[in-house]
Amino acid sequence: MVTKQEQLYEGKAKKINGTNDPGLYWVEYKDDATAFNNLKKGTIAGKGYYNNQISALLFSYLKEQSIPNHFVKLLGDREMLVQALEIIPLEVIVRNIAAGSLSKRLGIPEGTTLKKTVLEFCYKSDELGDPMINEDHIAALELATPQEIALIKEQAYQISEKLSARYLEANLILVDFKLEFGRYQGQVLLGDEISPDTCRLWDKDTRKKLDKDRFRQDLGQVEEAYAEVLARLRGGN
Ligand code: UDP
Repeated sequence: MVTKQEQLYEGKAKKINGTNDPGLYWVEYKDDATAFNNLKKGTIAGKGYYNNQISALLFSYLKEQSIPNHFVKLLGDREMLVQALEIIPLEVIVRNIAAGSLSKRLGIPEGTTLKKTVLEFCYKSDELGDPMINEDHIAALELATPQEIALIKEQAYQISEKLSARYLEANLILVDFKLEFGRYQGQVLLGDEISPDTCRLWDKDTRKKLDKDRFRQDLGQVEEAYAEVLARLRGGN
């Protein structure tokens, strides 16, 4: 039996504990929410539960679709068991529709469908505010090898297709999202979470926002949005 051991790390949205198996981490999802590089802080009641359940459902789906990832099993309402990755300090942003920082930076109106799926890399650094970097920066800083980046890019495009299709079944448009990858026994594996904290999701018919933008932009009904995403993915819409 896997048992929970000492806490290794506490992030903004999750706590990571070790287990009696060195290859496994025990992850607990929190209700804490942050935005704008930590300038905005709050809690979203039930978020830990919803994000844990949504992530488990989507990681399981991706495994069925032959996209490997760190998910092992659910441990409870807010907890899951994952493989112990050595996280690569990159945020891989995948965009199919313009929104957020892309709209701001390039002046593309929010909601414009992009002619091509756009991948961006950001260097995971709270002090620097997660700056966008390119493949030369990644090689120069030795954050990942060119082979690892090639694998990450290939997986990110596949994940985008599979996830978009799965969300569409729930009448949700996947606008953009963030992925993190890590190393595990010589493999590059998808890790972190896939949830309304890390995905922009719009209702397909009304384009109502059903993700963390409700918290970022003080739109209200934040908890309800997370609950709705889970219910729809479970087939309850
Ligand atoms: N994102 C994230 N964590 C981050 C930055 C971005 O999960 O630290 C997600 C965000 O929720 C959105 C996508 O990545 O789905 C693209 O975010 P963007 O670069 O537009 O930044 P934002 O507008 O969220 O600051």
